[in-house]
Amino acid sequence: MKIICIGRNYADHAKELNNEVPAEPVIFMKPKNALLLPQKPLYYPDFTDDLQYECELVIKINKNGKYIQERFAHKYYNEISVGIDFTARDLQQQQKQKGLPWEIAKSFDASAVVGSFITLTPDIDLSNLNFSLKLNGNMVQQGNTSHMLFNVNRIIEYASRFFTLNIGDLIFTGTPAGVGSVNVYDKLEGYIEDKKLMEVDIR
Ligand code: MG
Repeated sequence: MKIICIGRNYADHAKELNNEVPAEPVIFMKPKNALLLPQKPLYYPDFTDDLQYECELVIKINKNGKYIQERFAHKYYNEISVGIDFTARDLQQQQKQKGLPWEIAKSFDASAVVGSFITLTPDIDLSNLNFSLKLNGNMVQQGNTSHMLFNVNRIIEYASRFFTLNIGDLIFTGTPAGVGSVNVYDKLEGYIEDKKLMEVDIR
């Protein structure tokens, strides 16, 4: 399984990091080992001094496909959750300045945290869904999927031009504004609407 991540999918977040709003989805990937095992704490990595959270809506692929058209993309997933695209921001800034790839800043072990998945039902409107992140009990990020520059089906169409999507693959759909740093002993909790689906401790 692989984790496909979308960068700069919310204009307010692109702005806070002084990035341009992209004309096409910005894609990077995390390997299987990037997934933090359930119930495990995230140990602060020794290679960064600025580990940051990015709270994102996560889609789980349930059907193999390539060259998926946007209008059929909804047939390729039926579960969603909320997750964190952990980022070594100091390393990412260094890599960006040199024009180098982001993997060491984005795709390291345990850099992808995912909550429990919920099954999509007709009452869940994926085009207008609130999700949020609390840090030590305080709300730090609040997003709504209506603000995505590229919606889930458009992301699937674009990504599947380049990469076959396989059952079990995850798509991190980008973070809204409000990203920030974590410290050892912090607790992060992720919500879709009022439902807590994710919890992770930093150690
Ligand atoms: Mg992200």
